[in-house]
Amino acid sequence: MLEKIRVTIWNEYRHELESPQVAAVYPDGIHGALAAFLGGVDAFEIRTATLDEPEHGLTEEVLAETDVLIWWGHKAHDEVDDAIAARVAARVHAGMGFIALHSAHYAKPFKCLMGSTCSLCWRDDGEKERIWTVRPAHPIAAGVPTHFEIDPEEMYGEPFGIPEPDELIFISWFAGGEVFRSGATWQRSHGRVFYFRPGHETFPTYADANVQRVITNAVRWARPTVNLPDSAPRAERLEP
Ligand code: ZN
Repeated sequence: MLEKIRVTIWNEYRHELESPQVAAVYPDGIHGALAAFLGGVDAFEIRTATLDEPEHGLTEEVLAETDVLIWWGHKAHDEVDDAIAARVAARVHAGMGFIALHSAHYAKPFKCLMGSTCSLCWRDDGEKERIWTVRPAHPIAAGVPTHFEIDPEEMYGEPFGIPEPDELIFISWFAGGEVFRSGATWQRSHGRVFYFRPGHETFPTYADANVQRVITNAVRWARPTVNLPDSAPRAERLEP
């Protein structure tokens, strides 16, 4: 039997405490909503961490025991300590999976792993999003329909300042006319990275069955196959 996949759900957890509107949608925090459905999967062992915990809840020990890290952040990206963002990125390079959700496109660890602006255009009017599955054979798309809708959602539009994805799995269309590369993967050294767009804090997007399926699939896909912390040793010759 395979060992359980150890998942750490990281949430900034500020909107929910400061805005009654957001608290009404996510009374247990966005991390709580994610933990609720991911915790229902037998193969997963779930823990959560938030910005205001010591070391943002991401100590060396926690990261060493994390197979896949999920990240949601928005208004306080700048408050994430550079050293901890670098620690997260180093774990990804060693093999840990990393799933960036929605406004985590601007999270320090994601930007560090991408090496690009990660900028996009946006419009928070609340409008229909139609997500197209453009790579249906990918494990992250397993059981996901050809297209599904989330209504309302925030709009994110192109150009999205990401490096060319290794695999583009989902594209979003918005009622206002824009399109967006909303589900994409990258290999970074020994670790796998997945970005998934939906999840604005004022909408109950994480209750959507298709969104839950994508995130659940992504956790399985991002599970590490190795743990190889970075090193660059001098090698002894094998032959005389
Ligand atoms: Zn948003």
